[in-house]
Amino acid sequence: MNKTVGILGGGQLGRMLAASASVSNINVVILDVGEHAPAKQVISPRSASLAHIDGSFADPEKIRELAERVDVLTVEIEHVNADVLEEVQRSRSVQVHPAPSTIRIIQDKFLQKEHLLSRGCSVSEFMSVESTVESVQEAAQELGLPLMLKSRTLAYDGRGNFVISRISQAQAALEFLGNRPLYAEKWVPFAEEIAVMVVRNTSGEVCSYPAVQTVHKESIMHLVFVPLRNRDPAVPARAQVIAEAAIATFEGAGVFGVEMFLMQDGTIYINEIAPRPHNSGHYTIEACETSQYENHLRAILSLPLGSTALKVPSSAMLNLIGLSSNMSDLTPVIEAANLTPGATVHLYGKSECRKGRKMGHITLVADSDAQLSDRLRPLLHALSSPPE
Ligand code: ATP
Ligand code: MG
Ligand code: MG
Repeated sequence: MNKTVGILGGGQLGRMLAASASVSNINVVILDVGEHAPAKQVISPRSASLAHIDGSFADPEKIRELAERVDVLTVEIEHVNADVLEEVQRSRSVQVHPAPSTIRIIQDKFLQKEHLLSRGCSVSEFMSVESTVESVQEAAQELGLPLMLKSRTLAYDGRGNFVISRISQAQAALEFLGNRPLYAEKWVPFAEEIAVMVVRNTSGEVCSYPAVQTVHKESIMHLVFVPLRNRDPAVPARAQVIAEAAIATFEGAGVFGVEMFLMQDGTIYINEIAPRPHNSGHYTIEACETSQYENHLRAILSLPLGSTALKVPSSAMLNLIGLSSNMSDLTPVIEAANLTPGATVHLYGKSECRKGRKMGHITLVADSDAQLSDRLRPLLHALSSPPE
């Protein structure tokens, strides 16, 4: 078997997917803007027919061109053109995973929430809003303050979100979010954020990874702790059941990230779903029997899934997020990681460093939670004291 996988998107998730594919000699063709997108740096095409494509993953012509070159199309980002994916799935002998219908629902967070609610999945309160001050104020009256106003589309790293704490901020929120379709969510006073990666192959075999705790800073994922510890030992397994049930409502194969809110009383709400490998699953490369990337490839290539079990008692992932335009601000934490047993530094090869941009991550594995804390401490210290 030497199948070719086309990936829409050439960022860090595509890069780690391509790295995993290279281990198994699976051909990968990447569609993204730029010759040196992070994912394109990993695999150099072995023939002209396998050359990467320079263009947008939302451009119909470029998607059709990619479909000509591959056996299976997949995505590393949900903000793609679902109509064209549907068209190439219908008209050509190419499979698309996850299903374009799934991508279409998930890429609109309001449709996603309505879908989950109508299928009996646990989501907290939300409502549609018009992009007018009156409509936003009505939502605030209905759902209370603070109110989470969200862009329905093209959101990532919290950039489509605005927290309204006072009703007078409605205008500012609309200006901040620009001319985008919006909806509102009731504020969720969660105890913790958690996530579960679920994978399903083309035969319908399903596995999930252990529940993890995710810690966000300024709406960007900062840390992941694995496995999730809770005073109620039933919580992690319950999170897996909820995540698997949610994914059962969507079509197509592949790995899915299910972000959830865990409340003080143990209630779990789904925040959102990613139809692709996810930041909360980076740790699986070092800490699990099979990484989320390998399992995504197995899933879409009709292979049996690999074990999702942890290989180590305790693990963590620390995102390396740009502190400024200067990548060298991250040097202290990278150097600290190089001196730490059980640490693996991943750098994504992005051409430019920017404040708030994900530039890499560090995975830690340890024999115990106590050892993990000892290994993490110097990294967090180095991160909080960048060079002068
Ligand atoms: P991602 O990078 O995960 O795709 P995103 O831009 O889609 O992020 P969300 O996941 O919707 O954004 O929100 C980002 C963060 O904001 C969440 O992880 C959580 O910390 C916080 N948040 C989101 N919705 C709510 C809510 N309704 N109540 C309280 N906090 C929230
Ligand atoms: Mg999101
Ligand atoms: Mg999110």
